[in-house]
Amino acid sequence: MLRNDKLDQWDRENFFHPSTHLAQHARGEAPNRIIETASGVHIEDRDGNKLLDAFAGLYCVNVGYGRQEIADAIAEQAKKLAYYHAYVGHGTEASITLSKMILDRAPDNMSKVYFGLGGSDANETNIKLVWYYNNILGRPQKKKIISRWRGYHGSGLMTGSLTGLELFHKKFDLPFDNVLHTEAPYYFRRPDVNMSEADFVAHCAAELEALIAREGADTIAAFIGEPAMGTGGLVPPSAGYWDAIQPILKKHDILLIADEVVTGFGRLGSMFGSGHYGIEADIITIAKGLTSAYAPLSGSIISNRVWDVLMKGTDETGPIGHGWTYSAHPIGAAAAIANLKLVDSLGLVSNAGETGAYLKQALTEAIGDHPSVGEIRGEGLLIAAEFVEDRETRTFFDPSRKIGPALATALIQNGVIARAMPQGDILGFAPPLCLTKEEADIIAAAVKNAVTTVLG
Ligand code: PLP
Repeated sequence: MLRNDKLDQWDRENFFHPSTHLAQHARGEAPNRIIETASGVHIEDRDGNKLLDAFAGLYCVNVGYGRQEIADAIAEQAKKLAYYHAYVGHGTEASITLSKMILDRAPDNMSKVYFGLGGSDANETNIKLVWYYNNILGRPQKKKIISRWRGYHGSGLMTGSLTGLELFHKKFDLPFDNVLHTEAPYYFRRPDVNMSEADFVAHCAAELEALIAREGADTIAAFIGEPAMGTGGLVPPSAGYWDAIQPILKKHDILLIADEVVTGFGRLGSMFGSGHYGIEADIITIAKGLTSAYAPLSGSIISNRVWDVLMKGTDETGPIGHGWTYSAHPIGAAAAIANLKLVDSLGLVSNAGETGAYLKQALTEAIGDHPSVGEIRGEGLLIAAEFVEDRETRTFFDPSRKIGPALATALIQNGVIARAMPQGDILGFAPPLCLTKEEADIIAAAVKNAVTTVLG
């Protein structure tokens, strides 16, 4: 095989990597990894390391790597029609068929799908549509958006503002001041250790009510949240959270955007997180699991309620002034159709529920008694282990010790990739939904070794 021995040098000299310490990378001080091939739940790098990818890339390769059916669908679409746009009523068989497939799977109150390329641009679309909606309804002051601390909604201008993680704000002049953050339902990090879960949910609801009262409901357009939080720590909501939050939003006529970029298409063991937690959203964001990342594609699923106003808007003001060149790209749509068929035929939604419960149990047995393990939590194949200095007093490690990254590095030395989540010492597990119980056992054994190496 032809091997380019300059690849490492070219990488350091030319490639601007996202979410990377740029200086350390350019100077060659931080390790890089050049991935060459992948199959099932494993990736292989050009140095011959084969790793079990327990984070499915960026929790997106839901059907696993190397699926011939999707590769074939992409190739056939590229040969037949690589591109045509979707402006002014144009479409392709793939994009129209995919819209129908998504709506067949989505909650009953949903009406249409707008297609983008990634989760960030889909959420940018959502916010624009919410603003348009309120302008058409004649309430131009109702525009602020509430999201949660530690929520992740992308890294664009508006979406980076919605994201409630410091790393995505500092030095970027974000967040914008029309974005408000409120408490996330992260029980492990409740403000008072003695609070019951029910009291904590009441506290989250009271915080939301207080924020709305402070700002004025007539200035707030929407609330955005991930059904179960992802990048902020992989945190299923406290019991009763969504039941407590939704009536408050309804009372103040605040739209609800469910960001299902991670939870959509099976990760929690249900087709959508909205169904899993009884969320009735006005807009649902989808991406990652829509194509299992075989091609970039995202979507905004729009409810009847919002759609009716958008139609009224175009009757009043003409075509909607929103669109990307690559909206509804036929290659992405073809990949998504093949992917959703595989999700069904392989029973991956139910496998995520079953194997997820098994993996959580296996991790609990492997490390649950370790004094530095604060909590193992999760739903379906979205699981986290959070590490603390002292679990009796719930004292967190000093972030400068970088315990999470050290654990992730030690885990790679044991052949498994998990993600050190960006805020806190949290190892995230979100493997492909085709994970088997044998592979779950391999992950748990590797985690046990890594924890012993780093924490004794
Ligand atoms: N929303 C959620 C819940 C996400 O997890 C992500 C990415 O991880 C995004 C939005 C942004 O998606 P993208 O990185 O495709 O722009």
